[in-house]
Amino acid sequence: MKLELRNSLSRKLLRVVLLSAIGVGVLLSCAQIVYDAFTTRQLIVSDAQRILRMSADPSTQAIYSLDREMGAQVMEGLFQHESISYASIGHEGEELLASKSRPPLSLPTRWLTDPILGAEQRFSTPLIGRPPYSEYYGDLTITLDTGLYGKGFVVDSIVIFVVGTLRALAMGFALYAIYQWLLTRPLTRLIGELVQVNPDRPSERKLPMPVGHERNELGLLVNTTNELLGSIERNMQLRREAESSLERMTHYDFLTGLPNRQQLQDQLTEILEDAARSQRHVAVLCLGLDDFKGINEQFSYQIGDRLLITIADRLRAQTGRLGVLARLGGDQFALIQPGIEQPYEAAELAQRVLDTLEAPIVLDDKPVRLRATVGITLSPDDGDSCEKLLQKAEHTMTLAKTRSRSRYQFYVASIDTEMRQRRELEKDLGEALDKAQFHLVYQPQFDYGLGRITGVEALIRWQHPERGMVPPDRFIPLAEQNGSILAIGEWVLGQACRQLREWHDQGFTSLRMAVNLSTVQLHHAELPRVVSNLIQIYRLPAGSLEVEVTETGLMEDIDLAMQSLNSLRRSGALIAIDDFGTGYSSLSYLKSLPLDKIKIDKSFVQDLREDDGDATIVRAIIQMGKSLGMQVIAEGVETREQEAYLIAQGCNEGQGYYYSRPVPARDLAVLLAQQGTEIPAALS
Ligand code: C2E
Ligand code: CA
Ligand code: CA
Repeated sequence: MKLELRNSLSRKLLRVVLLSAIGVGVLLSCAQIVYDAFTTRQLIVSDAQRILRMSADPSTQAIYSLDREMGAQVMEGLFQHESISYASIGHEGEELLASKSRPPLSLPTRWLTDPILGAEQRFSTPLIGRPPYSEYYGDLTITLDTGLYGKGFVVDSIVIFVVGTLRALAMGFALYAIYQWLLTRPLTRLIGELVQVNPDRPSERKLPMPVGHERNELGLLVNTTNELLGSIERNMQLRREAESSLERMTHYDFLTGLPNRQQLQDQLTEILEDAARSQRHVAVLCLGLDDFKGINEQFSYQIGDRLLITIADRLRAQTGRLGVLARLGGDQFALIQPGIEQPYEAAELAQRVLDTLEAPIVLDDKPVRLRATVGITLSPDDGDSCEKLLQKAEHTMTLAKTRSRSRYQFYVASIDTEMRQRRELEKDLGEALDKAQFHLVYQPQFDYGLGRITGVEALIRWQHPERGMVPPDRFIPLAEQNGSILAIGEWVLGQACRQLREWHDQGFTSLRMAVNLSTVQLHHAELPRVVSNLIQIYRLPAGSLEVEVTETGLMEDIDLAMQSLNSLRRSGALIAIDDFGTGYSSLSYLKSLPLDKIKIDKSFVQDLREDDGDATIVRAIIQMGKSLGMQVIAEGVETREQEAYLIAQGCNEGQGYYYSRPVPARDLAVLLAQQGTEIPAALS
């Protein structure tokens, strides 16, 4: 904003001071003039008296001696005074001794002064003889013309007026200069400084103190303004800090410091726009930890948080310069990698990420192995919007988890349908137990030494009202994820124990029952109590109940598995390790775990041919089991050749379609009854 000179404060002061000075000057001048008029009138009177006094003696002389010539001389003398217009010496009622007159002076000021002073004034004095003859002889009379006095008065008045006005003007200008110097100039300089204040950094530039004004209002103004600017800056700083922490909170994850979903979406949208121009793919990797819930339960939430921070750090190290890493929430992370040319590059990245997570993390002095699953989508093939790519990647990851753990999986179109079906299935699963849609089937286990069925494995079946039979491989992982496996597993245990009691009562007293346990169930603190209760309720003899736990489940956490297995064993159950050979258990681990039986996975049994790699593995497992003092059972036995090889290697038992498919309890009783009359193979 520019200050116009005509609006300046000193101009305004000048106007006010001048007007009032002139006003006062005129007023004072008028008073002076009135006073002058009054003194002029007095001057006329005193002049007249002085003239009369001076001419009184010669006039008395003249009238006393009746000397006309002398009277005329007196007249001449009187008319020396310019203002006298008439004079006479004489006695009233008699002829005048002498008189003289002249016309009034014609002056330009008369019109003004005649009303004030009167045009003429008449004065007279009595002529009296000297004492002792104090006799009255007549009068001396003069008339004064006021014109000349008036002229003088007018001239004086003009001078007074002009001088008064000039003085007022001079005073006004002097004040103007003082104001200008004391007020306007320092104020203008302050305004100039204020204009240059940076609104973003108001206290960066302090207003300078005008010299000589330190203690007056100007100094105070400068100090107050500087203080105000300082506190404005402090307030702005506070607000900026609040805003930036708010911004961080809305865009970044509090725990790991990674961008959150919101921020990721913004960044991904940008990356996709760039990629569309450069014709490259963008890979969206959605990574979920496999058992974070378990870790939170086993340790504490603080430790869970520490784990997430460690994982975030490891993932950061894997994220390329152009990539973006974010935490989607809970135990899910997203990794965006632009500039992908071939899908295998995304697969390699996923594998690298999974490998870095594999390294054990030490929590509470215990090494914890983490597993994760990655779902991958690629733009533009799987979608061109950020929402689609992210959503599909998350779905793919969720599905991949239920299939095979510790893997990555690319999005395929069928996943959407599968995802939908899965959600419906999950909903139905919640009600299946109450609606009695589950039942158990039993598959015999054939003892090669005794040549007869000595045990059965209970396998769950779900008869879905619309979908028909849903295989356990489909719904057990679902139940493990949403926690319903605990209730289902307990139902299976109860049902199997009740059935075993029934068979024992029917006379098959040495029959053994094997029940599958999910890892979630195994780590549940209540399990040993549930098992020992069941053993008591159904009066099951020692060694007649066996639980099967998978090798991979045990190896996730050896120490925890050791505790769980020990307490389970104390409750009276035998323990078999299921699907053996598919995990990575080392001999030392196996030795330390309280196991009774090894179950060779059916994948090794099915392709059994002499001198084959699988045959070697089967032989090795059987020998290892023997040396550890464990029973060995082979599952998935389908042919006579497989059986022959197993028997030749010294395997204790076999289970598979070769003996029987899993069958309902009624059918199994028939099988048992049939063999009850048979002579055991080993004895024949
Ligand atoms: P699993 O424990 O390995 O069970 C053996 C599976 O192999 C069963 O499949 C069985 O029908 C099948 N099988 C048996 N003999 C043969 C054979 O000669 N050839 C072939 N190809 N397959 C054979 P199923 O019943 O579909 O069960 C699948 C998996 O579901 C089981 O694997 C087990 O892990 C799980 N499961 C079944 N019932 C339960 C249960 O009650 N609780 C839990 N936690 N898991 C269960
Ligand atoms: Ca099993
Ligand atoms: Ca198995």
